[in-house]
Amino acid sequence: MQQTARTVVIHEHGGPEVLRIEDRAISDPGPGQVRIRHQACGLNFIDVYQRAGLYPMEMPHALGMEAAGVIEAVGEGVTHLEPGQRAAYAAAPAGAYCEARVMPAAQVCPLPDSISFDAAAAMMLKGLTVEYLFNRTTPLKRGDTVLFHAAAGGVGLIACQWAKSEGIKLIGTAGTDEKCSLAQFNGAAHCINYQTENFAQRVAEITKGEGVDVVMDSIGADTFEGSLDSLKPLGMMISFGNASGSVPLIDIGILAKKGSLKITRPTLFTHIADHTVCQAMARRLFGKVEGGEVKIHIDQRFPLDQVADAHRALEARKTTGSTILEL
Ligand code: NDP
Repeated sequence: MQQTARTVVIHEHGGPEVLRIEDRAISDPGPGQVRIRHQACGLNFIDVYQRAGLYPMEMPHALGMEAAGVIEAVGEGVTHLEPGQRAAYAAAPAGAYCEARVMPAAQVCPLPDSISFDAAAAMMLKGLTVEYLFNRTTPLKRGDTVLFHAAAGGVGLIACQWAKSEGIKLIGTAGTDEKCSLAQFNGAAHCINYQTENFAQRVAEITKGEGVDVVMDSIGADTFEGSLDSLKPLGMMISFGNASGSVPLIDIGILAKKGSLKITRPTLFTHIADHTVCQAMARRLFGKVEGGEVKIHIDQRFPLDQVADAHRALEARKTTGSTILEL
């Protein structure tokens, strides 16, 4: 008999109300694929961009890019996973908000027994992002200073702890004093409430006028200018998200005027495209968690059928740390 799985699907871009739960047929995995039964799924801001249409999708489309569960079946040529094995992933195509799915195996990673399904679902996309930001985007060494926006968010709380574990001085920003305290408790050397303070001015004070080596900016439109102003000459601007809207087109000459700055706009999906690299990144992330250097904060849990409320909370800046959808 054909199996089905409850899956969150959109038929048009729009607000949280376009999220629908449907029963979708799932087949046996083909070559290079696995069938995975999820135990929990992760919520990420990219899901909001995809739902709203900032990142357009073909319709109808399932949503979600992060989950953890048990492998039920493997297709021809899959050698790193086997039925019954615990596994987790951050991966395209979207479709992780579901009970079970068939998907490419390359980015699905064996999950150590010491890491719970919930923690894995809460950290794969966010943690692999922190891994590439700190290890694969620009050289960073102990003592370097990084300005990291939304430091109390899902990616943010992992970044605060990761930076501390590598001896990097992370100056966070967040939207409330409570969020700032949380970021500092998790390893941020300082945290600026950018709703009440001019963060570029505060960075100048904290760094005694020098500026930071690197900015990691996932806020986009609202912070872009201030982020460039927070850099020291030859500094690196990593623009990796747009929670407040897309970064406006810039005159590239501004980088020269502000001190020969560098800029990059990376995405996780280029970094994990190669199977071997993806698995190595995951092992490094798992090592940080198993070693106690990074703790995964699951601060919100929603049942799958309340996914719209989860999106509302994330967009309204009401969440901290990670959010998971329970099955
Ligand atoms: P978060 O948990 O960090 O939530 C987003 C946070 O952004 C909010 O909590 C809020 O924190 C802040 N924010 C500032 N302005 C706005 C706004 N106008 N609307 C909504 N939120 C705002 O989300 P994630 O951890 O899932 O992702 C963090 C960022 O990293 C996202 O922008 C995401 O797209 C990006 N990302 C990029 C990847 C890449 O490879 N390029 C991969 C993974 C994530 P506060 O109230 O403190 O300001």
